[in-house]
Amino acid sequence: MSGSVVIVGAGFSGAVVARQLAEAGISSTVFDGRSHVAGNAHTERHSNGVMVHAYGPHIFHTQWDHVWQYITRFGEMKPYNHRVKATSAGRVYSLPVNLLTINQFFGTTLSPKEAEAFITERADRTIDVPVSFEDQALKFVGRELYEAFFKGYTQKQWGVSPTELPASILARLPVRFNYEDSYFNHPYQAIPAHGYTAIVEAILDHPLITVSLSTVKNPTELQGADHVFWSGPIDEWFGGAHGALGYRTLDFEQSTVKGDFQGCPVMNYCDVDVPFTRITEHKHFAPWEQHEGSVIFHEFSRLCEKGDIPYYPIRLVKEKEQLLRYVDAARALDGVTFLGRLGTYRYLDMDVTIKEALDVASTYLASVKSGDAMPAFVVDPLG
Ligand code: UDP
Repeated sequence: MSGSVVIVGAGFSGAVVARQLAEAGISSTVFDGRSHVAGNAHTERHSNGVMVHAYGPHIFHTQWDHVWQYITRFGEMKPYNHRVKATSAGRVYSLPVNLLTINQFFGTTLSPKEAEAFITERADRTIDVPVSFEDQALKFVGRELYEAFFKGYTQKQWGVSPTELPASILARLPVRFNYEDSYFNHPYQAIPAHGYTAIVEAILDHPLITVSLSTVKNPTELQGADHVFWSGPIDEWFGGAHGALGYRTLDFEQSTVKGDFQGCPVMNYCDVDVPFTRITEHKHFAPWEQHEGSVIFHEFSRLCEKGDIPYYPIRLVKEKEQLLRYVDAARALDGVTFLGRLGTYRYLDMDVTIKEALDVASTYLASVKSGDAMPAFVVDPLG
C-alpha cells in the first residue's frame, strides 16, 4: 500500500473525496466491504421495476448551492417534495405537526394565529433551555401532541425513553402554524432519476480512481499509504479498544403488492404497541414512473449488534465518553483522516456528508501543497 491514497468506504464521503483528489491529479483506491457503492443510500430496481431504497428512505435536500451543483453534475435529480403521514391511535394525520395536524387532532378550526396561541397555552413554559428530547417536545408542542406523535415513535426508534435523548434529535422536525406539509424546508429537494447508486458510480467514474468492492480492509493492511481516508466506523479502526460505539440498526420486512398500498411514500406509526416505526412504499419516491406492482418495507429498529449494519449513532452519555477516547486516539495518529457518518459517529444527512467530504478534500489538497499535516478530522465529532 505504499505511495498511494486509500479511501475506505464507497458511500458519498469516500466517493466525493476520491473524485476531488482525482480532479486534482491524485489517484486513489476506494475499498468497500459491500458488493455495491453508495453505502446506505444504495438503490436497486426490484424485479417488478420499482426503484427500491434498499436501506430505507433517502430524500436529498439541501440549502447549499454548491452541494446542489455538485450532485447534479453526476446525474439527473428530479424535483421531489417529501410528504409524510402519521397514524396515531387509529387515525391518520399530516406530519410534521402543522395546522392541519393541530386542527385534526383537537377537532378545531383554528387560524394560524389562534393555533399558535392555543399551542403556547399547552406548552410547558417552565422549561427554559430544553436538554432532552422530551423537554424540547413539551416546550414546543405540549403534552398531548408529544404523546400522540413523538413519545412512542421515539421510544421504538431509539430504544430508550425520550427523557434520555438529546433535544437536537427533535430539532430536526419543524412545527408549523400553516398548512405547509413538506417534510423539509430546504430550497433544493430531489431524488435521482436513476437512483443514488448511479450517482455515486458516476462520481467514482474517473481514470484516477480504482474501486474495489466486497473487500474489507483493516488498518494494518493500509500501512504505508500516502494517506488513508476512513469512512468506516471510527471504533473499528482501533479494533474496538474503547468498547463498541452504540448504533441502532434497522430490519426491513419486504413485501410486494399490486396497485397502491398506502397512497404515500412514508406512513409513520407513532403508537408504541405497533412494533414497526414506519411503512415505506418505494414507488412513491419516483412519481415520474408508472408501476403496477409496489414494494413495501415495514421498518423495525433495534440495537445494532456485531455483524449488523450500523444506521443511527446513539450518542448518549456512555457513547460520548467512548467517542472522546477514540477522537483523542485518532488525533494522535499520522496520515489518517476520519469522515462521514461512521467515521465521525454523527447523524448526518446526505447533503452534510457531501459538504464535509468536499471540505476534507480541499483541506487535504491544501496540505499537500503547503506540506502541513492533514488533520484527523475536518469537523470536530464532538462539536
Ligand atoms: N420522530 C417522531 N415521530 C415521528 C417522526 C419522527 O417522534 O413520526 C422523531 C424520532 O425520534 C426520530 C426523529 O424525530 O428519530 C427524527 O425524525 P426523522 O424523520 O428526521 O428521522 P429519519 O428519517 O432520519 O429516520
